[in-house]
Amino acid sequence: MKQPEHTPEHQASPRQNGRESRYLTTSIPYVNAAPHVGFALEMIQADCLARLYRLQGYEVRFQAGSDENSLKNVQAAEAACVPVETLVRGNAERFYALKDALDLSFDDFIRTSLDRRHRTGVERLWAACAAKGDIYKRAYAGLYCTGCEQFYKPAELTNGCCPEHGSAPERISEENYFFRLSRYEEALRRAIVSGDMEICPGSRRNEVLAWIDGGLEDFSISRSAVRARGWGIPVPGDADQVIYVWFDALGNYLAALDYGTNGDKLYRFWHDAAAREHVIGKGITRFHAVYWPAMLLSAGLPLPTRILVHGYVTVEGRKIGKSAGNAIDPVPLAQALGADALRYYLLRHFRSTEDGDFSRDRYLQAHNAELAGQLGNLVHRTLSMIERYSDGLVPVAAANRERRPDILRAAGALPATVDTHLESFAFHDALAAIWSFIAAANKYVADTRPWSLAGLAASDDDPKASAAARIELRNCLADLARALVVIGQCLAPLLPSTSGKLLRQLGIDRVWLGLGTELDVSGNRVSAGAILFPRP
Ligand SMILES: [Zn+2]
Repeated sequence: MKQPEHTPEHQASPRQNGRESRYLTTSIPYVNAAPHVGFALEMIQADCLARLYRLQGYEVRFQAGSDENSLKNVQAAEAACVPVETLVRGNAERFYALKDALDLSFDDFIRTSLDRRHRTGVERLWAACAAKGDIYKRAYAGLYCTGCEQFYKPAELTNGCCPEHGSAPERISEENYFFRLSRYEEALRRAIVSGDMEICPGSRRNEVLAWIDGGLEDFSISRSAVRARGWGIPVPGDADQVIYVWFDALGNYLAALDYGTNGDKLYRFWHDAAAREHVIGKGITRFHAVYWPAMLLSAGLPLPTRILVHGYVTVEGRKIGKSAGNAIDPVPLAQALGADALRYYLLRHFRSTEDGDFSRDRYLQAHNAELAGQLGNLVHRTLSMIERYSDGLVPVAAANRERRPDILRAAGALPATVDTHLESFAFHDALAAIWSFIAAANKYVADTRPWSLAGLAASDDDPKASAAARIELRNCLADLARALVVIGQCLAPLLPSTSGKLLRQLGIDRVWLGLGTELDVSGNRVSAGAILFPRP
């Protein structure tokens, strides 16, 4: 198990219960529409990391929320002829509902338009940057995409249109507050190059470095209150302006830890944590890897230690969009085959840092062939054989075996492999390693033929051969039980419900830490019970 190094700085910081802590967030989505499967991917990826860190023994704070102070929400509410509060409440509730539907373990969900912590936190962050001399007011004219809530330079547009939305930006001129981003070019470059702030994958890191090398311009951090229809957090001391939604939204990561209310209980998850990590989509890299760390540097606060950037999900080959009408709801997908089936499909069949395509056919196929066919089958046949040939008790393998079978060696190596892949944000590789182990275990059953051994063991023809078969059968069943334990442990962060069920079927009902912890099940009573992945 990899433990963080205890630098003097860490030793000096107060730690709860003597344990190192980690802070992990998802991005907070706009709630101008219901959640779609692309956001489910981000939630599931972050959840998997949170569960891994808890298993590693860290004290984890896993934060989610909704970004509500956006002009987009005002426009969506106007289009739907409902008050903006009603629109954001309805959609925020649907985002929160992903918690149960996808078996997510976030500790907290902050709503930026409603939560008092948020407003005070953002105001404090503003004040800290202002005190540093990094906020000033000037007239500004530019091309603004409301979809992105961002100004574009003409050179950044595609045929005069927003590269994200394909729509023509509005020309806007008004007096705004600006943040002195230009002051932080060097400090940002240093943080990235030194690895103090990691950006994963490397291609995104290079992209961010190229932006910095191209020169960073101060950016506007307020909007006229009139244009924002009065929706948003007023600029402290200037009620004619509201705080730019990105300055506001990024502040949630601190506000949710009581930054604005000076509580130490949670704020230590930012200040004293061994890691501060954000899982985000590739479209908002600039905000998280340039603007946000510059704001933190200005406020004199620690930077994120790692920014993990995932790709986009297309659906049946097409980009998800309102106009395409293909934004599929992840909840019915999870209800149809189980939260773990959706988690599996999104973690295994999408390379986490690249774009991937969602297909209902491939989802069903992954469930039937890989979950039911390979994992479900291995579990069911193994437990059934232990019930049938060993009175339902996991046998003890003989101590004096001539040769340890390969399957035990593979079982010993698997947890560290999975741990390493997960830590490096490569869920697909972790699951591929687990599934190749499952394939090896299924092959071990086919090669060893326990049913033939059982027949031979019960036969009176050759007492010596029967005795040998009994020993071999016992060893084989013990090996397979050991394989299932390791699979159950390795699946814990990825498919938590399946892992829990499998380990309970093996008679394990206790808390354990570390994917590689040896859990001895010999002598345990098993139950084959219901099959894990019934085919629909
Ligand atoms: Zn746009």
